[in-house]
Amino acid sequence: MTDPTPPAGTTRYLCPLECGWHHDDPPPSTDDVLRVAPDPDVRSFQEAVSSIVSKAAIRRLEQTEAALKQHLATHTDPAEVAAIEQMLADKGLSGANWRE
Ligand SMILES: [Zn+2]
Repeated sequence: MTDPTPPAGTTRYLCPLECGWHHDDPPPSTDDVLRVAPDPDVRSFQEAVSSIVSKAAIRRLEQTEAALKQHLATHTDPAEVAAIEQMLADKGLSGANWRE
């Protein structure tokens, strides 16, 4: 079920319930920066570059978070739900809306 060798540079996120699910976040690519635009109020080329880089990173994080939320929502057994709630509480995220 789990691909043992993700491509180099890939960050693999495993299901915290160890069900075998994972999400692979591939290494950063030029595609990432082509998908975002800099803030309209940047004043220099340097600010534009840094704006694009941080937006691309945030976009990646949002995609990973969405994939994880989507997966966690498939765990509906009360014991699994309790384990997820406990895990979030341990991370100081109790009350986080993870079931979307
Ligand atoms: Zn899982």
